[in-house]
Amino acid sequence: MKQFLNFINGEFVATAKTFENRNPATNEVVGQVHEAGQAEVDAAVAAGRAALKGEWGKMSVVKRAELLHAVADEINRRFDDFLAAELADTGKPRSLASHIDIPRGAANFKIFADIVKNVPTESFQMTTPDGGTAISYGLRTPLGVVGVICPWNLPLLLMTWKVGPALACGNTVIVKPSEETPATATLLGEVMNAVGVPKGVYQVLHGFGPGSAGEFITKHPGVNGITFTGETRTGEAIMAAAAKGVRPVSFELGGKNAGIVFADADFDKAIAGITRSAFENCGQVCLGTERVYVQRPIFDKFVAALKEKAEGLKIGGPDMPGVGIGPLISAEHKQKVMGYYAKAKAEGATVVTGGGEPAMTGEYANGHFVQPTIWTGLPESASVIREEIFGPCCHIAPFDTEEEAVALANATDYGLATTVWTQDLGKAHRMAAAIEVGLCWINSWFLRDLRTAFGGAKASGIGREGGVHSLEFYTELRNVMVKL
Ligand code: NAD
Repeated sequence: MKQFLNFINGEFVATAKTFENRNPATNEVVGQVHEAGQAEVDAAVAAGRAALKGEWGKMSVVKRAELLHAVADEINRRFDDFLAAELADTGKPRSLASHIDIPRGAANFKIFADIVKNVPTESFQMTTPDGGTAISYGLRTPLGVVGVICPWNLPLLLMTWKVGPALACGNTVIVKPSEETPATATLLGEVMNAVGVPKGVYQVLHGFGPGSAGEFITKHPGVNGITFTGETRTGEAIMAAAAKGVRPVSFELGGKNAGIVFADADFDKAIAGITRSAFENCGQVCLGTERVYVQRPIFDKFVAALKEKAEGLKIGGPDMPGVGIGPLISAEHKQKVMGYYAKAKAEGATVVTGGGEPAMTGEYANGHFVQPTIWTGLPESASVIREEIFGPCCHIAPFDTEEEAVALANATDYGLATTVWTQDLGKAHRMAAAIEVGLCWINSWFLRDLRTAFGGAKASGIGREGGVHSLEFYTELRNVMVKL
């Protein structure tokens, strides 16, 4: 049986307390995860602090960037190992993980290495009161030891999205992968050693949130800042922990995103886009659209076409030929999603398609599969329209005017993302300005340029990551004033 060990100060460390790691497509136990306690957290913080004072802290940005390129190259060299690890942890279709999770996970190291190497800081010259001259310039220094708390939906990709810029900026990191997906973070420890990243720079501690590694990392006074992706409620707990010592946080939180389709949209492209935004990764994408609003003249046609797409998605494990939709991450999450499926019916939804569990056989008989589901006919107050479900489902409602679409999209505490489909350029730009989100896609969804800002408004996050924006969290900007 596979053992997932902690990675502390360049060594793989076992602990006495372990928990099971299951494959969500089969529900089979595939490994034992070694849970870190306070002692392991203390050791990792000490090693992270020591690394800041050692070779890593003194390394030039050019050398750091070279090492991070080597990390990316080594991930790509071991592509099949990373892919197998991610597939066993998540059960997602092989085609998805091999096109998104692993290549983008590797790319995150290169892009941030290049950004940090090339980005300038500000500089000003001024006349002083005595008639002389002074110049000031910005100097970026690392934040220190950064706690990186990760979710399970895109394990390697979302973890490296934080670790890449953190290391490029000269920090050390202590990663706490989700308890559901420990594998790729652990494997990355091997990569760090193979390419010669100094000890204590990248460390991994396994475990849960409260009363476990997650809480111990976020409460540790030797951790200088915390970057977190996960649920908004967890963000609140982490923010409370970070308040002690007024340590900064960077948060990518939940969403309840609206997809908006105008009657003038390219119909087939809109259907293809919303099929992805509602069902990709079995709906376990923070940017997904669980609320879809379609302009009335095309409403019936749209619902019928999306139903056809949903029913055409083949459900199964990573290697089933033509598979389009994998399992949910766990039995617990399946129970949550099925709870919402029941609630939708109880609250009076018309179930256009799905709403239940597919009949699975053979090795996938005990996997955590659910049917892709579409509802119509619910009032905006319904639970499945208000609360984040994180499953392969959406409610579709009609709208008449642009103003109504904006009001519907904004009627939520969340503000992560939206996708708008229209061929009217003016309308597209007006919608982008009016919808309260961090990310607005026009005639596309989840199309990313890693140089651009990523993050959520309202209850969907704090701060932005991506491109130079990552530097705002991962460095302290010092102003140096020189009187000449
Ligand atoms: P989660 O909040 O349950 O867990 C995330 C991580 O936090 C896990 O590693 C968990 O062990 C840890 N954790 C839990 N409680 C903690 C505590 N008190 N202290 C410290 N750590 C703690 O989220 P999840 O279920 O893994 O992921 C799904 C959620 O993530 C959804 O809400 C989704 O929208 C969100 N998400 C957001 C983005 C984004 O970019 N905005 C991206 C992906 C996922």
